[in-house]
Amino acid sequence: MNLYQDIKATAQAYWITLRNMFRKPVTIQYPEQKRVPFERYRARIVLTRDPDGGERCVACYLCSAACPVDCISMQAAEADDGRRYATWFRINFTRCIFCGMCTEACPTRAIQMTADYEICRRDPLTLVYEKEDLLIDGPGKEPDYNFYRHAGIGVVTPRGQGEEERPAADVRSLLP
Ligand code: SF4
Ligand code: SF4
Repeated sequence: MNLYQDIKATAQAYWITLRNMFRKPVTIQYPEQKRVPFERYRARIVLTRDPDGGERCVACYLCSAACPVDCISMQAAEADDGRRYATWFRINFTRCIFCGMCTEACPTRAIQMTADYEICRRDPLTLVYEKEDLLIDGPGKEPDYNFYRHAGIGVVTPRGQGEEERPAADVRSLLP
């Protein structure tokens, strides 16, 4: 009986091997061949610019607060026109788990995730990205969005002239 089971198990193993020999392989020869991930794949993080070329990040610290592994840090500053920006902005990719919480928290669409997954390095210190490594020239996935056209009232656009903004009410006109 044992001999029968051994022969059966061996035959099954050969059958599985034989069957898969004629199947199309699912493996690819990376890095010569590269797999193209889906558009919403969450990999390397970038800081984007608004359609006018300005930095979208207003250094509000929301991404930093939302990050479960505490790998985002920055220093806020304010320009002469009242617009906030980050003097430095740092992401430690050795700790990042690519969860996307930072992108969800960002009110200005500044921080975005890209499909670039090839950021592995042997030296962990090269995975600490500074602002100059993160900031790209384009608007990323939100080509038309400009935070200051909707909010930041009185900072970049005068009060009452932002998109979807009504002119400020004259409170004296409301008096009886
Ligand atoms: S993807 Fe997640 S872990 Fe990485 S920086 Fe953003 S919030 Fe932090
Ligand atoms: S990337 Fe977005 S959430 Fe993070 S500090 Fe800048 S504006 Fe705020």
